[in-house]
Amino acid sequence: MTPTDSEHALRGAGLRVTRPRLAVLDVVAERPHADTGTVLDGVRALLPAVSHQAVYDCLGALTDAGLLRRIQPAGSAARYELRVGDNHHHLVCRSCGAVTDVDCAVGHAPCLATDDAEARGFEVDEAEVIYWGRCPACSTTLRSRS
Ligand SMILES: [Zn+2]
Ligand SMILES: [Zn+2]
Repeated sequence: MTPTDSEHALRGAGLRVTRPRLAVLDVVAERPHADTGTVLDGVRALLPAVSHQAVYDCLGALTDAGLLRRIQPAGSAARYELRVGDNHHHLVCRSCGAVTDVDCAVGHAPCLATDDAEARGFEVDEAEVIYWGRCPACSTTLRSRS
């Protein structure tokens, strides 16, 4: 996203354009699936005076507004990305924690139908899918060690 795109996105979501918010969008654009610490470091490199709390607030506001998607694989810190609205899923490496996007075969939520949930009167709006395994780098390391 260019700075102008970010401004449009913020205004479109009804949020005020602030420098910390622009910086957060910038950092997440450069580092998809960045965790909070990475976002914090990145924002501080751009705006040294910004407080931790301000960055947390930005992440919350941007996530609530649907400009950021927050994912939190078990055992991992929350991670943020700009790719929203396409119901894509994630490959997570058990060894190094690397997160990779994979397209959803269906493309919209909830992509896994469950007749049983409907039968129970539960309205499902999302299925959270994480594929766990080993990334290419980690599976190569494992193989060469044995
Ligand atoms: Zn790995
Ligand atoms: Zn993703």
